[in-house]
Amino acid sequence: MKILKIDHLGIAVNSIDEGKNFWSDVLGLEFEGAETVQEQKVTTAFFPVGESEVELLESTAPDGPVAKFIEKKGTGFQHIAFRVADIDAALEELKEKDIQLIDQTPRIGAGGARIAFLHPKATGGILVELCERS
Ligand code: ZN
Repeated sequence: MKILKIDHLGIAVNSIDEGKNFWSDVLGLEFEGAETVQEQKVTTAFFPVGESEVELLESTAPDGPVAKFIEKKGTGFQHIAFRVADIDAALEELKEKDIQLIDQTPRIGAGGARIAFLHPKATGGILVELCERS
């Protein structure tokens, strides 16, 4: 597969407003605005950093994946997202290599990107997201 760059780093927070205090007010990163992805029960906020971005993730429901993550591991680094040229081809390649996936087919994430997660069991414990943007 062709990985183009680190698209973003996902960071789980209790509150995007609180998170903004550090990422925007202290570090001076530009806040691009927040977007809720209902299907994932999450509100995301993106802060561009050069070629990549920081993505803050705030759960919108106690049973959402981000709430469950914080319950288990606390707030902080949650996933790394790689921009790929062709996410369908990348998933096919991973399936051929018997890599455990969370998403068998791409779904639509924040900003209209096509995304899919690999299972942390297959990656040495890190949640890895693949992301294709047109
Ligand atoms: Zn992400």
